[in-house]
Amino acid sequence: MEINFTWVSETVLAIKTDFLFKTRLLPTHVFVLKTDTGLILFDTGSPGNGDMILKSIKAAGLEPKTIKAICLSHWHSDHTGSLAEITERLCLDQNLDIFIGQADLPLLMDQRSLLLRFHPFLKLPVPHSPGRLPNSLSARFFPLNPTGCEILHHKYSIKAIATPGHTPGHTAYLHQKTGSLFSGCALSLLTPNLVGLVPIFHNRTEQIRSGEYLAGMNFRYLFPVHMFLRFDEIPLERRRPISGKKGLVSKLMGDHLFFHIS
Ligand SMILES: [Zn+2]
Ligand SMILES: [Zn+2]
Repeated sequence: MEINFTWVSETVLAIKTDFLFKTRLLPTHVFVLKTDTGLILFDTGSPGNGDMILKSIKAAGLEPKTIKAICLSHWHSDHTGSLAEITERLCLDQNLDIFIGQADLPLLMDQRSLLLRFHPFLKLPVPHSPGRLPNSLSARFFPLNPTGCEILHHKYSIKAIATPGHTPGHTAYLHQKTGSLFSGCALSLLTPNLVGLVPIFHNRTEQIRSGEYLAGMNFRYLFPVHMFLRFDEIPLERRRPISGKKGLVSKLMGDHLFFHIS
């Protein structure tokens, strides 16, 4: 797989990985944050992307061996798929810290396929499996409690935000210094100017509540895993709440929209 990276801000690198039958039909990104104390990865893409991710980091002028932590948004394989490949290839002297929502950790540990729900009304079942677990020598897991995590906050200047709904333990991460919100699947750019929810969920009511909370937060940059990316700041004053009727395509897809970016 080819190297494919873009700097989306001064400190954040986006690496595009393949997903959906080894295609790029549903763009899926891994983000790398440059901090004074090392690199932090947000999600790891689907299986088979480990090498490409590490090569992309090097090609961008960064050193993969300085990766200190991996922040997982949730257990799904398009987010945890290359976790084992990355941690095992790095062979760090010091263990990597891997953060994941408390309710999602057992779902990753179980290594079993589960059913997701697709479409808010049809609720079509979709089987999905977690990514392979790294060996215990190369990684240690920190389950995040449902109200956030102090260790992560103090050590890395990152606030973990419990955003259940897409999965029970879905977590978004805010890098406070740069105002960068790594929203996972809790908030997505459905078009370059339209922010809403992906139609896959564990609990739609919670997913909407979590998305609403993030949409109203005072972040500067939004970095969702799937679909579109933006490079500019989108502070509260640039967000226009969605009102009025939805378009036909939007209705059929069961989209839930939060705001337009002006
Ligand atoms: Zn997911
Ligand atoms: Zn996903």
